[in-house]
Amino acid sequence: MNATSNVCLSPELDRQFKHLWHLVGNTPMLELQYIYKNKPGKIYVKCENYNLTGSIKDRMALYILHKSYMNCKIQPDDIIVEATSGNTGIAFSAIGKNLGHRVKIIMPNWLSKERIDIIKSMGAEIELISKEEGGFLRSIKLCEELASKGGVFIPRQFENQYNIEAHELTTGKEIALQLENIGLRADAFVAGVGTGGTVMGVGKQLKKYNPEVKIHPLEPLESPTLTTGYKVGIHRIQGISDEFIPAIVQLDKLDKIISASDGDSIIMAQKLASQLGLAVGISSGANIIGAIKLREEMGDDAVVVTIIADDNKKYLSTDLVKDEPMKESYLTKDIHFTGSLSIKR
Ligand code: PMP
Repeated sequence: MNATSNVCLSPELDRQFKHLWHLVGNTPMLELQYIYKNKPGKIYVKCENYNLTGSIKDRMALYILHKSYMNCKIQPDDIIVEATSGNTGIAFSAIGKNLGHRVKIIMPNWLSKERIDIIKSMGAEIELISKEEGGFLRSIKLCEELASKGGVFIPRQFENQYNIEAHELTTGKEIALQLENIGLRADAFVAGVGTGGTVMGVGKQLKKYNPEVKIHPLEPLESPTLTTGYKVGIHRIQGISDEFIPAIVQLDKLDKIISASDGDSIIMAQKLASQLGLAVGISSGANIIGAIKLREEMGDDAVVVTIIADDNKKYLSTDLVKDEPMKESYLTKDIHFTGSLSIKR
């Protein structure tokens, strides 16, 4: 990321941002090969577990902080405060601490223990909010209350356009160029919606390379917030479908919503680990279900791309590592992975 230093972004800080950009982005991409109902198929996955803190959220955190310094929206002694379902908190803790900030993370208390411990390990303060206290929406409100006292920077990932721009200029651009390296362009992209930054930003970039590309948001079957507009049901795909439709998500700019069951997503993540050694998180299992569904719908030549959002280390205390009952309706019932090829960066 090129930046010119200015009055708020000192040359030292600008140098530090450049160092951090070496640790974020430029991730590998894989062609995953599978057999579905006795027929071979393939999809493309961008491996965001290779970022500094092991998730896609590093890109957004680093980009928002960098831009906010350039625009004098953050001062060196500000506390960074954000509401998050985990990966964002980890990303802001790591990058915020590296840049010398105090960091406070406010998040629901039902997310995995590993997320909480990792944030604590980096010396960030953490406040956990129960369902009874108001969960995610209350976490966001508490951030705003703190900000009104001053000396606080809130990234506001759910409404910050820099979240989209981060994925447009980095994730999306890398995907387009990696596909170009092997003479392809994307016909479809699918990603589970947390803030929606990934699906909106990557979609915007891929449209520059193929105006016909289909961009699909994905949500849990058990909690279809994008479809209904409000929180409904409970699900086990941490990191997506929080409790509302984020402000940066423009459903009218996206193609149809794809759904994945949480049990199917868990089994998919388990299969990726046991059949290919790709130890991924539950939302990545959901994304891969979405991509295979689209590839099967669109036909053999379709280039369908999705994201591995993080790895499985933050889920070792969850159902991801337990026996999950197979159901007749699950896509994983008929999937077997046969190989993976890496695509030149
Ligand atoms: N998967 C996981 C594990 C996540 O933490 C997130 C971010 N909350 C997402 C998917 C969705 O990413 P985005 O916020 O860009 O929609």
